[in-house]
Amino acid sequence: MKQKVCTGGIQPVVFGDENAICSLGVPDRCFNREQRRAISARDGGCIIPGCQIPASWSEIHHVIPDAFGGDTHTDNGVLLCWFHHRTIETSGWKIRMLRGVPQLKAPPWLDPGGGKWRYVTTSRTRIADALDLRLAQSD
Ligand SMILES: [Zn+2]
Repeated sequence: MKQKVCTGGIQPVVFGDENAICSLGVPDRCFNREQRRAISARDGGCIIPGCQIPASWSEIHHVIPDAFGGDTHTDNGVLLCWFHHRTIETSGWKIRMLRGVPQLKAPPWLDPGGGKWRYVTTSRTRIADALDLRLAQSD
């Protein structure tokens, strides 16, 4: 049986007679500490534009759900705050990964022009890169 595990962790432990451990599942559907650090450095916080929730308060969302074959890999995980994580399926926001970098498409009610895929701009490193590029172009 598969369960949707995106942020929290479930580690199945099967006990036998006299409480002996018969089986211990591996929570490979949960992002580990190193993956979380890397995703946090890339995304900076919740990736939904206008949301100010920092990385330390965000959860990691599988862009392609585990149930549909999505890997628990940095190329398939993005930061979302609790609210956006719970509403991502119904809000109309679309997320995709392009060579390991998340892109967003706004819901039709927010972008009636048909929507366009845009890179996430919450990452401090991405903002710093954009500033460096802008400064280099102004020289
Ligand atoms: Zn958010």
